[in-house]
Amino acid sequence: MESLTTHDALLVADIQNDFLPGGALGIRGGDDIVPVLLNYIDRFHSKGLPIFLTRDWHPPNHCSFRSQGGPWPPHCIAGSPGSLPPRAFETPLSAVIIYKAIDADREAYSAFQDTALGRHLKAIGVQRLFIGGLATDYCVLNTVKDARAAGYEVRLLMDGIKAVNLQPDDGPKAEQEMIRLGAVPVRLEAVAT
Ligand SMILES: [Zn+2]
Repeated sequence: MESLTTHDALLVADIQNDFLPGGALGIRGGDDIVPVLLNYIDRFHSKGLPIFLTRDWHPPNHCSFRSQGGPWPPHCIAGSPGSLPPRAFETPLSAVIIYKAIDADREAYSAFQDTALGRHLKAIGVQRLFIGGLATDYCVLNTVKDARAAGYEVRLLMDGIKAVNLQPDDGPKAEQEMIRLGAVPVRLEAVAT
């Protein structure tokens, strides 16, 4: 069992319509993790612990789009319906939203890249991050890498992540790499209420 302490925070990456089935970059099964993540959010919120939600938030000419030579179809254009969380993802007003990859010429898969996340975490004394969301092989992977490099303990929410899987084993490979870097896999039932 993992008991939550005042040095813990929850980070949920990119629960946005474009990454869910039917979205511009819909991830198969992405909607399956939404209720699980809401349960994690409840646990942290009921203990008054900080919650961070990231949003991929691009200008229409973002460098990651195919029209600009990037790998992806246009997605998560700032303020568009696809950039918003689904209705079912009702989160506490106190959750901190971290917008990433907001500049046209900069890609950012990590929630730490060009954002204030690191400063927020320092300011409130966070030492351990519970990380889940979309997608295992991009935002989650790169956020976990940066969190470990910055010295945070990491718990990886195994039941709260889903992979894009451009190659079928991208997800499992990303999980292995995060665990190799020191992320400890957890599941909801192992996080004390
Ligand atoms: Zn993006």
